[in-house]
Amino acid sequence: MSPARRILIAGNWKMNGLRAAKSELRGIVAGLDPTLQSKVDLLVCPPATLLAGFAADVAGSPIMLGGQDCHFNASGAHTGDISPDMLKDAGAVAVIVGHSERRGDHGEGDAVVNAKTKAAWRAGLLPVVCVGETLAERDAGDAAAVVARQIRQSIPEGATAQNLVVAYEPIWAIGTGRTPTPEDVAQVHHAIRAVLTERFAAEAQGIRILYGGSVKPDNAAILLAVPDVDGALVGGASLKAADFLAIARAA
Ligand code: PGA
Repeated sequence: MSPARRILIAGNWKMNGLRAAKSELRGIVAGLDPTLQSKVDLLVCPPATLLAGFAADVAGSPIMLGGQDCHFNASGAHTGDISPDMLKDAGAVAVIVGHSERRGDHGEGDAVVNAKTKAAWRAGLLPVVCVGETLAERDAGDAAAVVARQIRQSIPEGATAQNLVVAYEPIWAIGTGRTPTPEDVAQVHHAIRAVLTERFAAEAQGIRILYGGSVKPDNAAILLAVPDVDGALVGGASLKAADFLAIARAA
């Protein structure tokens, strides 16, 4: 981590959480003491149904809310979709785009992720663009190359330190309890930084690159200490305030 980049711990609740889950959000708000606040930024991405209701609970706290996906259009005939402006209107300041579950379940390729990233910018949201290789790609020794290609194609021109966060999430590590070695994480994050530098010059030094995939309280310190890891995108362990806060404290 460079001192210029503040650690970001982001929680991706995925398709989990009813209104009663507000107690977990309140636990996170209560646990964000001044020491933790001085070290990390916290982002919670609940299901869209909970965003507006959560906004009041984070008001006055530095905790940010985000969506988990958005459409690339601002409005229109897209049944079931949510636009970036709607997320913003509900209280989000950020949005995850290109998560492997969107890429896999909904056939979203790099071009769609690129369009969604631009749409997030137009709405004034901070996109968290996800990339990551399959197990077959890793076993073939292609992880860094696959991720570099995704970075080139999923991120539009115009990225800056302020308007982009990248999340490296090896697909085989998501929800499996398996994680890459710190050396493997370092290698891919280094490759991502190199492509960002090639494309965005000095801005790349300020763009945060999160690691995601089975981050837990007991492995967070090791993963967050890897060079070029500027935070974590946490799925399962973000659903409990105590675990999410423990991960943030490990930074
Ligand atoms: P996990 O999910 O922490 O449950 O592995 C991470 C993610 O998919 O963002």
